[in-house]
Amino acid sequence: VSAPAPPKVAVVGGGPAGLMAAEVLSAAGVAVTVYERMPTLARRLLMAGRGGLNLTHSEPVAPFLERYGPAAPRLTPLIDAFSPAALVAWAEGLGQPTFTGSSGRIFPKAMKASPLLRAWIARLEAQGVRIVTRADWRGFTGDGALKINDEAVTADAVVLALGGASWPRLGSDGSWVEPLGAPIALLRPANSGFIVEWSPNFVERFAGAPLKTVALTFKGRTLRGEAMITRTGIEGGAVYALSAALRDAIDADGSAILAIDLSPDLTIEALTRKLDRPRGGQSTSSFLRKAANLSPLAINLLREAHGRDLPADLAAAIKHAPLRLTAVQPIARAISTAGGVLFDELDEHLMLKARPGVFLAGEMLDWEAPTGGYLLQASFATGVAAAKGVLAYVGGRKP
Ligand SMILES: Cc1cc2nc3c(=O)[nH]c(=O)nc-3n(C[C@H](O)[C@H](O)[C@H](O)COP(=O)(O)OP(=O)(O)OC[C@H]3O[C@@H](n4cnc5c(N)ncnc54)[C@H](O)[C@@H]3O)c2cc1C
Repeated sequence: VSAPAPPKVAVVGGGPAGLMAAEVLSAAGVAVTVYERMPTLARRLLMAGRGGLNLTHSEPVAPFLERYGPAAPRLTPLIDAFSPAALVAWAEGLGQPTFTGSSGRIFPKAMKASPLLRAWIARLEAQGVRIVTRADWRGFTGDGALKINDEAVTADAVVLALGGASWPRLGSDGSWVEPLGAPIALLRPANSGFIVEWSPNFVERFAGAPLKTVALTFKGRTLRGEAMITRTGIEGGAVYALSAALRDAIDADGSAILAIDLSPDLTIEALTRKLDRPRGGQSTSSFLRKAANLSPLAINLLREAHGRDLPADLAAAIKHAPLRLTAVQPIARAISTAGGVLFDELDEHLMLKARPGVFLAGEMLDWEAPTGGYLLQASFATGVAAAKGVLAYVGGRKP
């Protein structure tokens, strides 16, 4: 007597969430096919590795989970089940030892994503996962099969892990919204830069220049870090960290004022003492450069924020330069995507209530988080959760 055929599961989207689902499913003996529209897998993961692949974060679990804001209650059980420690153990199991940086962020020692991805794909293939690239999911047929390119593909269950809409040239562009037809929160830029109406002269001189040590404040939250001047505005780590609140304020009010402290190492008293000396015949610029050690970029930024004629209290002006942000950068340039399929549309196993047998994972769900490893952690953890949901579903349906 031959053994019954294993359940057949289609995973659509070969990014971190989809591949993690494929790994868990194939390890449990399910016949898995991964369908990916691009010619190769996980292009966004590879891009994430370009600046150092920040896999997760070492902070205690309570503040870690708070990073997910309103989605934290839904993500908590999933991240409990596939924790930062489990993610580190998984990476190490793929021959990628990790280290914790001074900021608490966790990286593979290799920093890049490519060795990890190579080992991972080899493991998936060894577990029998079939990988089909240039396979574009376009929705469901009338009887619930998947439309892949022009063909109907049937499976006992499906995991859709189609990503968000940022960096569309890497494969995920949010084109799933319409064919999926599930209620979503609008896809919005997350960890994004902002538009600033710089003067032409400032753009000419400083576009591409880093603002090395600044402290940015918005709505009572202050962050030290780096920012980058772009032709159209401002971006960089410290800006991304405030970007959800800034985005929501611009949505509500049309613009937002980001307060920049251009001399975060000095108190206002110390800065006042430094500036409290005779200027002689010096221009304001050379006085600020010498007395307050400000860079040409910082001095010109002061004028962009305060106007050409700087306020009389220069120390206060340096500690609080109000920069008006007039819009969010387009989602195509954001690091990640806010919004996505509403958790209320899913059961606790991430199965779409309206389409039994279809499970969702990764950035296409309605959560957002700052950079720091939280994005990959949630993408992997939802991939694991969707796969476990599929196992319960096909196990319950098939002998
Ligand atoms: C520049 C950059 C740097 C980043 N750095 C970090 C970092 O250091 N740490 C961190 O935690 N996060 C980082 N991120 C975010 C992280 O890469 C994402 O959160 C994560 O990749 C999301 O995983 P996912 O599987 O949900 O989606 P994706 O990685 O977008 O994968 C989805 C896959 O689905 C495919 N697909 C989409 N639509 C279809 C379709 N219709 N048919 C077939 N296939 C389809 C796509 O081609 C893609 O391969 C970074 C992102 C960017 C852009």
